[in-house]
Amino acid sequence: MALQVPRRQLFIDGQWRESLLKNRIPVINPATEQIIGDIPAATSEDVEIAVCRCSESFFKEQRQGLGFGFWRFPCQVFTRHRAAKITERKTEFAKLETIDCGKPLDEAVWDMEDVAGCFEYYADLAEGLDAKQKAPLSLPMETFKSHVLKEPIGVVGLITPWNYPLLMAVWKVAPALAAGCAAILKPSELASVTCLELAEVCREVGLPPGVLNILTGLGHEAGAPLASHPNVDKIAFTGSNATGSKIMTAAAHVVKPVSLELGGKSPIIVFEDVDLDKSAEWTAFGCFWTNGQICSATSRLIVHENIAKQFLDRLVKWVKNIKISDPLEEGCRLGPVVSAGQYEKILKFISTAKSEGATILTGGVRPKHLKKGYFVEPTIITDVTTSMQIWREEVFGPVLCVKTFRTEEEALELANDTPYGLGSAVISNDLERCDRISKAIQAGIVWINCSQPCFCQAPWGGNKRSGFGRDLGEWGLDNYLTVKQVTRYVSDEPWGWYRPPSKL
Ligand code: NAD
Repeated sequence: MALQVPRRQLFIDGQWRESLLKNRIPVINPATEQIIGDIPAATSEDVEIAVCRCSESFFKEQRQGLGFGFWRFPCQVFTRHRAAKITERKTEFAKLETIDCGKPLDEAVWDMEDVAGCFEYYADLAEGLDAKQKAPLSLPMETFKSHVLKEPIGVVGLITPWNYPLLMAVWKVAPALAAGCAAILKPSELASVTCLELAEVCREVGLPPGVLNILTGLGHEAGAPLASHPNVDKIAFTGSNATGSKIMTAAAHVVKPVSLELGGKSPIIVFEDVDLDKSAEWTAFGCFWTNGQICSATSRLIVHENIAKQFLDRLVKWVKNIKISDPLEEGCRLGPVVSAGQYEKILKFISTAKSEGATILTGGVRPKHLKKGYFVEPTIITDVTTSMQIWREEVFGPVLCVKTFRTEEEALELANDTPYGLGSAVISNDLERCDRISKAIQAGIVWINCSQPCFCQAPWGGNKRSGFGRDLGEWGLDNYLTVKQVTRYVSDEPWGWYRPPSKL
């Protein structure tokens, strides 16, 4: 019998609640194409209830005058408990992630470790924040004293994608709660299963009702009403540019802040002074990890023309060695892409590249040994021009396109030839050159002699059309804090601007 996912409801106000219209969305295992359960489909009516409960929960603390410090203290405790629970259930959660989105099991286990690590990290950061409160400001007038308070923004809506279903959600949930906000999470309809399990963890650790609400559902039915809701004080979004633009428009109507983590078409520059095997492995990892569905995938290879032929030969050898299988199988390194829609979209990108005159050096098809599932072989495309769709647009699948360069200037020009600016990588033994490239490249992240490592201590986010705001690190916490100035008049003398009224 096929593995099934637990049957869950919406998580509102600390309880499981059926969606008002009782609609459900099937969960399909992308490796087998079988339905393995379903998730609730929230609509605007459910969003209304969740926002109401979430606001009540946030303002209850304020009304009781317990203040910001109190609010965050138990959150740190719950945050640590959540981290411990996830570590305890790591294998079970990883399996659910794998059958929901197709990620190789080893990667899903790694994600769960990162989830627990992220909760721990923000619990520490929240503790440190208390020490930074009320830091005095230096003013040019001695008659005034001023300090700054960092306070939670309020009720926040967190809208997330399917490629790292739980990890992307926790990159937002952990700092939002650590900052003292109350949150409503809307994960992707294509992979929500582990986010609903996070709700169960919140129940188990006794998180106060309403602090975190989790609504699954379609983007236009559940995400859109959340983005436009006047009582949601901020939207933090990770997803495509098209949706990011809709969310920004909705938020603009009520003048609500947003932070956007969007798509990318990131370059990897390989110079001629490199070790071919080490660089080939990082190039493969940079594009084909997570089944190629990485926002920061270094999916444009820019390689020095003097080594291009040998390098591509090595790269093809590495790529052909990648184990493609059911992602639960031991040693799997490439599973299926998330859905039938995504599978069709990727194959269309490949056929358009061919019709525009590019060459498929390897891959481009479903692996012969797999009859079911949304599998696409890791694909390398050469003879690419800068006007081709494959060079310009994000595929979000295991597809790497290649161009060669002669000079450093040419390499940089090619690297920056994109409206996106999320990730980038440079591979060279000349560290001064790497330093020059790091400064000149237009991206929020630069990897030197590697591609894709990610740490919750370091800021994550893009420039140009890849969005604004940063997840992770202290910047991730700042996303959910607002800054309040408190200024006191300390002189015993009257202010003395107006003439005092004559005594009666
Ligand atoms: P998507 O934009 O289709 O969906 C993302 C989320 O938005 C989902 O929860 C979806 O239900 C919701 N949504 C859809 N329409 C909406 C609307 N009108 N209003 C409100 N919410 C709506 O993106 P996706 O396909 O889930 O994810 C892939 C994209 O995410 C890629 O472009 C990828 O690069 C990007 N991504 C970026 C990062 C990053 O850190 N920058 C990380 C992961 C993924």
